[in-house]
Amino acid sequence: MRDSRSAMLRGTLNRCPCCGEGRVFSGYLKIVPRCEACDEPLGAYPSADGPAFFTITIMMLLLIPMIGFGWTVFRSDPMTLLIGLIIITTIMTLVLLRFVKGAFLGYLWAHDERDRGS
Ligand SMILES: [Zn+2]
Repeated sequence: MRDSRSAMLRGTLNRCPCCGEGRVFSGYLKIVPRCEACDEPLGAYPSADGPAFFTITIMMLLLIPMIGFGWTVFRSDPMTLLIGLIIITTIMTLVLLRFVKGAFLGYLWAHDERDRGS
């Protein structure tokens, strides 16, 4: 039985969930076909739009306190707040997506949810 917690942690840190040595991504979101250290077929685990779904959910939960915080603390006018939040949420989403995709791959690997070509 594979440990899903350590696998997800390794994936989040851009490390192979199997050995913790090789890299998961070869670029921004492209997953390597095979781990360079242990030859685990990481490309066989299809994350599809799962990471995007979880990233959107996390960002939605963060956005509401961010609106409240920005409104009460900075007392900016609505247009400035809107533009600021668009920039901040875009950057946060793109950063978060990579971590979530790594964690998602770790979870799929731990549960052996690989693409069997069904
Ligand atoms: Zn590996």
